[in-house]
Amino acid sequence: MKILAVSDRVVKGIYSSRICERFSDVDMVLACGDLPYTYLEYIVSMLNVPCFYVHGNHDQPEYTANGRTLTKPGGWVNLDGRTVEARGLLLGGLEGSIRYRPDAPFQYTEGEMAHKVWRLTPALLMNRVFYGRYLDILITHSPPFGIHDDTDRAHRGFKALLRFMARFRPRYLLHGHKHAYGLESLRTQYKDTEVINVYPSRVIEW
Ligand SMILES: [Zn+2]
Repeated sequence: MKILAVSDRVVKGIYSSRICERFSDVDMVLACGDLPYTYLEYIVSMLNVPCFYVHGNHDQPEYTANGRTLTKPGGWVNLDGRTVEARGLLLGGLEGSIRYRPDAPFQYTEGEMAHKVWRLTPALLMNRVFYGRYLDILITHSPPFGIHDDTDRAHRGFKALLRFMARFRPRYLLHGHKHAYGLESLRTQYKDTEVINVYPSRVIEW
């Protein structure tokens, strides 16, 4: 199984007719936020595979040339605060970044993110009963605290995501939000989970 993950920046090789030849063997697409909805709709219309996303802190309504107002990407399933089974994988999502501006959408305090995890917990426990495991892949916009995050207020990761990995042991946590250039680490093992910074795109073999 091949998964294409995208986040934070439009990739020319994906937003072009070459997408079909380059990614014809992709079984699923995951998006970790801060991407134009029109880009995501292009991806799903070209690849025609299951697509799941969470919102990033920069997501906002988008006005298209033909007069549509997009508040979400058509053809995509919002994974925030829920889990789904797709192609044999258990997927879950937690949107947004740490709160650094009052009242801005898709931003959460550490306590609010802990509450979102708590609300997701019954569904994870049900997965454990029915499938023998809590979750395979968690997609988030923000990185966990201390892993691929930064010290400035807007890019600090969530401690709640560390506790999530310690308790529910997904195989992957895919995140965006942190634009990575150069040699900084993009893959970090934390307990049973490989934390991957998706920015701007990544192919994951399951
Ligand atoms: Zn962001």
